[in-house]
Formats: sequence, C-alpha cells, structure tokens
Amino acid sequence: MDAELLLAHVLGVSRAGLLTLGEVPDDAVARFEDLTGQRADRVPLQHLTGRAPFRHLELAVGPGVFVPRPETEQLVEWALARLAGRAEPVVVDLGSGSGAIALSIAHEHPGARVTAVERDPGAIGWTRHNAATRAAAGDTPVDVLSGDMTHPGLLRELDGTVDLVVSNPPYVPVGATVPREVADHDPPLALWGGPDGLDVVRGLLRTAARLLRPGGGLGIEHADQQGSALPALVRASGSWTDVEDHPDLAGRPRYTTAHRSGG
Ligand code: GLN
Repeated sequence: MDAELLLAHVLGVSRAGLLTLGEVPDDAVARFEDLTGQRADRVPLQHLTGRAPFRHLELAVGPGVFVPRPETEQLVEWALARLAGRAEPVVVDLGSGSGAIALSIAHEHPGARVTAVERDPGAIGWTRHNAATRAAAGDTPVDVLSGDMTHPGLLRELDGTVDLVVSNPPYVPVGATVPREVADHDPPLALWGGPDGLDVVRGLLRTAARLLRPGGGLGIEHADQQGSALPALVRASGSWTDVEDHPDLAGRPRYTTAHRSGG
C-alpha cells in the first residue's frame, strides 16, 4: 500500500488513479524507486510525501515534527463532543506538534478559540505553517504559542477561563523499545516522558488545573500500559472529578479524561 501511495504521490494522482495509469515516464520511475528505497529503510511514509492525513485535514509534516497518529483522532472526537453546544469555547492544545488536535478542533468547531502550545523549536515551524495554511483556507485562526506546557507562567492570562485542555504529550517511558521509524524520525521531545513516561504529564496536570474553569474538561492521550497509572495520577493530584479512561479503536487503553472540580 505504501508503494502505491508513493507512486500516486510521484505522479500527482490519487491511489484510485493508479488503476487507469498510462505509461510512467522514466524520471517518475527513478523518483518512485528512490522513495520506495527510503521507505524500505524505515523513513515514515508521511515524511516522504510531506503530508499526514488527520481527520478532515491534510497536514504538512517532515523531519522535526511528530507524525500525527490515527489513535489521536478519537481524542479529538471526545473533545468535540465536550464542546458541542458551546458557542465560543476556549481551548488549549498542549504540545501541539503538527497542530493536528488544535487545527482539527478549529476546523470542526469554528466558534472555538484555540491556542496551540509547542516548545520544540524544530516542531513549531510546522505548527505555524499548518496553522497559516488552515487560516488561509478559511478556518478560524488558531493562536500558536512557543512555550513549555509545564511552565508555571504559561498562558497566565487564561487562568481559570479555559473550557478544555487537550494534549498528546510525550509519554514513552525512557528505555521502552519503540519502532526504528519512530525512534529515528519522530522528535525526542515528542516521545520521551522520563522513567515512567509520566514526567511531562505531571507538569501538564498542574498547568491544566490552573488554566481550566471549574467544570472545564481535560483529555490526555497515554500509552497502552498507562491506562491505570494515568487515571490514578489524575485522581491523586486532586482538582479533578469524573476521571475516566477510554480505549482506542483497537481496544487498547488510550486516553484519560476528567473535569476540573469546583464551581
Ligand atoms: N504513540 C506514539 C508512538 O507511536 C507515542 C506518542 C507520544 O509519546 N505522545 O510512539
């Protein structure tokens, strides 16, 4: 399938368009062989095409930015359900990378006022690029902020006013084995979360508790093995009610949600 997608990419046609293909020019064949060679060497397909589909969007990606994964689409589904009926909800995406979560929410809930936070200097150019592309296409503009989600001063001006905080933070425990194409091509800052994978999440929880209004929603993606540890951490940190864990489409524990207590 990846070979078909690469050939379609080289020829500028859809995958279905390959069915009615005439003769392929030599330079396209050479380019196709180069790309399939790189793919066989575990370069991610999305880096070779420069595009990553995510929900209704096609995002620009490449070296330096985490390639958005289909599992995260469900976290967005949950977020949109939470926002339904709110005309102008305030939303913050912590660790936005390509902007997949933030830009999808802005695309699918045009009233939302979304801020995307990214600290990785190698990634934020992609966040900004994708945000500019979506705004030019007519979506409600998303604010992109260079900052660390664990910093106590982050977005101070929004303290207690945010309706929803959503994040796919780095959560891979140091020492865990990840596929070579992940280890070699996704940015380390997007992956590694300290000894138990939850180091960044601890800071994220403090930031989210500060930013959210009472009753505001929190949704955090996590590793398959963190389906008990992350809800336990959220419960133990106080500030939260309705802590729930949700599986992905493969049935693996994938994201935890909660509401800010009080109010
Ligand atoms: N799910 C990612 C992977 O495939 C890890 C992403 C993360 O740490 N947020 O490795």
